[in-house]
Amino acid sequence: MTAPTRTVPAQAPRSSAELIQAESPVLAHNYHPLPVVVARAEGVWVEDVEGRRYLDMLAGYSALNFGHRHPALIEAAHRQLDQLTLTSRAFHNDRLAGFAEGLAELTGLDMVLPMNTGAEAVESGIKVARKWAYDVKGVPADRATIVVAGGNFHGRTTTIVGFSDDDTARVGFGPFAPGFRTVPYNDLAALEAALDETTAAVLIEPIQGEAGVLIPDDGYLTGVRELTRRNGCLFIADEIQSGLGRTGTTLAVEHESVVPDMLLLGKALGGGIVPVSAVVARREVLGVLGPGQHGSTFGGNPLAAAVGSAVIELLATGEFQRRAAELGAVLRDGLAALTGKGVTGFRARGLWAGVDIDPALGTGREISERLLKEGVLVKDTHGSTIRLAPPLTITDGELTSALGSLERALG
Ligand SMILES: *Cc1c(COP(=O)(O)O)cnc(C)c1O
Repeated sequence: MTAPTRTVPAQAPRSSAELIQAESPVLAHNYHPLPVVVARAEGVWVEDVEGRRYLDMLAGYSALNFGHRHPALIEAAHRQLDQLTLTSRAFHNDRLAGFAEGLAELTGLDMVLPMNTGAEAVESGIKVARKWAYDVKGVPADRATIVVAGGNFHGRTTTIVGFSDDDTARVGFGPFAPGFRTVPYNDLAALEAALDETTAAVLIEPIQGEAGVLIPDDGYLTGVRELTRRNGCLFIADEIQSGLGRTGTTLAVEHESVVPDMLLLGKALGGGIVPVSAVVARREVLGVLGPGQHGSTFGGNPLAAAVGSAVIELLATGEFQRRAAELGAVLRDGLAALTGKGVTGFRARGLWAGVDIDPALGTGREISERLLKEGVLVKDTHGSTIRLAPPLTITDGELTSALGSLERALG
């Protein structure tokens, strides 16, 4: 018997409108994208199917901190594609040691657990914290608790959405894993009250991105460090969005010179090319894992390790952190000038801002659509808040032009 052959008719190139329409019946509706179909990109610029150009002020939720197709990252990926792409962790590969050493050096921590997506890093961090609580802290079996903050965003798996307080993300997906306690963000007294002998870890974002780029008060991260030390539990910083240059430092926790016990990294670690995430921790913490207790088919694959190593090399120069800090001042000044002219408030650190728009001017979605017409890509978060997070390679002139577009979109 011969397999039926199916000839695929040569297809005429389809327009943006046709492609958007073609998606609806076949693609799950878990996103509501802006009506633009991107076909090409370089640096801070993307181009749609019809050749219209847009300034990317979202940068893949900070997965594109180095811009689209950064030459050094593309070269590292090409080189690795020609050598070896996947081995599984059943065998060693010649790229993984360098990646892990580089990441340990960049973060000042000792050990690395390579994964793929951010949510996997969070899940892995939770597993490691629980194992540490039983093996090292002496918490009775199955009693470990992890304290999280209200308004958190840590990903989309069932365990993680179970401790989210965003109804859209959570409702309808239960039952959820027990063992989590939620306290208000930026509230040290509430955190202190939630810690006890069962606490394995406190898991927080040093800046809450999805919540609208909420920056805690000065002293909050220091306080979390102090309280976790006193309780004898772990401080886990989810730097998946805030880390790797975005805020003007390699890590957002550096703004208070705080060193957590465990860091969760993702997004920009893959250079906008492949999903790469990692749990990075002190040896006493990650050392609790033994063979067979955790794993990932793709985690630590040579292509991911090669791209991740190239990302670490870019960050080691300090250039991107410096740019984020310098241009962050331009961003802040620009937003300050718009305050009262359609902007009701904003929070910014480095090249990252949450901008509250006067609801009378439209929802965040409507402002995003107006900016799209102005040739600028952004994404709303909640209500009338939009977030700005351009690639760290953006120039002063491009940033100023984007702020001009925002002014017009509010006018
Ligand atoms: C994006 C994000 C995650 C989840 O990452 P995915 O790669 O989408 O699974 C987790 N935590 C934070 C803070 C994030 O911004």
